[in-house]
Amino acid sequence: MADTKYIFVTGGVVSSLGKGIVAASLGKLLQARGFNVALQKFDPYINIDPGTLNPYEHGECYVTEDGHEADLDLGHYERFLNAPTSRANNITTGRIYQNVIRKERKGEYLGKTVQVVPHITDEIKRNVKLLGQKQQYDFVITEIGGTVGDIESLPFLESVRQLKWELGQNCLCVHLTYVPYIAAAGEVKTKPTQHSVKQLQEVGIQPDILVLRTEHKLQPEILKKVALFCNVSPDSVVQSVDVPTIYEVPLVLQSQHMDETVLRKVGLKLGPVPEMRQWHDFLEMKHSATETVTIALVGKYVELQDAYKSIDESLLQAAIYNRKKLNLISIHSEKVTDDNVTSLLGEVDGIVIAPGFGARGVEGKLVALKYARENNIPTLGICLGMQCMVIEYARNVLGYADANTTEIEPKTEHKVIDLMDEQKTVTDMGGSMRLGAYDCTLRKGSKLAAAYGREQIRERHRHRFEFNSRYREELEKAGMLCVGENPDTGLVEAVEVPGCRWYVGVQFHPEYNSTVVNPNPLFMAFMGEAIKTKNESK
Ligand code: GLN
Repeated sequence: MADTKYIFVTGGVVSSLGKGIVAASLGKLLQARGFNVALQKFDPYINIDPGTLNPYEHGECYVTEDGHEADLDLGHYERFLNAPTSRANNITTGRIYQNVIRKERKGEYLGKTVQVVPHITDEIKRNVKLLGQKQQYDFVITEIGGTVGDIESLPFLESVRQLKWELGQNCLCVHLTYVPYIAAAGEVKTKPTQHSVKQLQEVGIQPDILVLRTEHKLQPEILKKVALFCNVSPDSVVQSVDVPTIYEVPLVLQSQHMDETVLRKVGLKLGPVPEMRQWHDFLEMKHSATETVTIALVGKYVELQDAYKSIDESLLQAAIYNRKKLNLISIHSEKVTDDNVTSLLGEVDGIVIAPGFGARGVEGKLVALKYARENNIPTLGICLGMQCMVIEYARNVLGYADANTTEIEPKTEHKVIDLMDEQKTVTDMGGSMRLGAYDCTLRKGSKLAAAYGREQIRERHRHRFEFNSRYREELEKAGMLCVGENPDTGLVEAVEVPGCRWYVGVQFHPEYNSTVVNPNPLFMAFMGEAIKTKNESK
């Protein structure tokens, strides 16, 4: 078997250019050619993982099967490659230092002075290669977070420089930059790209391939100019022009033969151009959809573009597979009141109540849920969303006005959602929730079992609080059924109200497990029900 090839994806000029999407798209194209591909993200911040960062800082926190709180780019990797990632696919500066300091305390450096170079850089290099060694991957694509020129990126770039030197042809650097359009001059400008490449060259890295992000299609002479000024061959400059959906990016890159350029540079045979049938079918379904389905997402971070990334993508995938255009309306949970709920939710076909932490916006979620339940609107509650379903039912159906989660009201009498026993002694905040994939047994005949088409499922979790089983019987008698249970602990993982047309809450996060070729069954069922509701009301 040939050696593993390592590709680094760096970014320049500005952040938020979509390095993760470019890395995932290149991974997809190589995977479609039959290669075994792994994608990983290195983040230069000092947090051990993004689990302790709030969405204003870092967008969504993604969760892997093995319970790692990860950068949201790992979500893109999974959605594109349809393969699970793990703790090993997301490394931060914090983790690198933690490992090095642990080794230092054990005396493993044998009296040497521990330094950024070589000890931190060696640890970075070890982690880059670890993934390739664990499973024989043909390609390991490593995205370096941040922007070239940031002080904190330097040890990562030094590691890339060393690896390029050590691995020779088995290592490539893809650099993503931005080409702005200056409206007043009516021109696109390549100077920022040239400067950004210079910055890379200053730390000893000559990029092999440049990807130019642009809002306007670039003419061939612009690409040629960039190639000439940046020391790359003309076939190695590709453009990534804005497209209506991220899922078109692989095809945009394929049409410019980026995957072939990569293969040529690492000395692998080209082989036939992959058909990517499923991918094309998916986009074809998207393009041909004419009717819309309107879904409201109720959450406290809806103004942030990336806070509910995986939910947004899961809904989009489910809408596309149901051959509908998705009209996703974001509703700020803090703004929902009894007075405006009808005008906010009266016209929607389905409602998703978002996950979350803390009290802010919870009362609005409860108002939205009461309205959804009483007006028979298909509703999916996720994690805190499910917990709110239980609170709302306990308050308005069981009549316990003080019913709450102890996350918000620790002293309330009716603690329908309570801290799990094993959480009561937890003091460290990072990585200490119930995290990762757990088995769940679904009740025969439930809407949930119908959605999944089976009774044994496995989905990912991220929470500390839990349905309080003491209320199980009472809620069941009153019409809220506990339809999902952890087979090992008996914890209630899902509820539904059969009296409503589709009112389902899950303690787990189905959105972490929905990909382009494999949309999550729960989102599919929810979307199907929303569409049926819409059609009936016509
Ligand atoms: N805050 C809740 C808990 O910790 C729900 C978490 C979530 O929605 N992810 O249990």
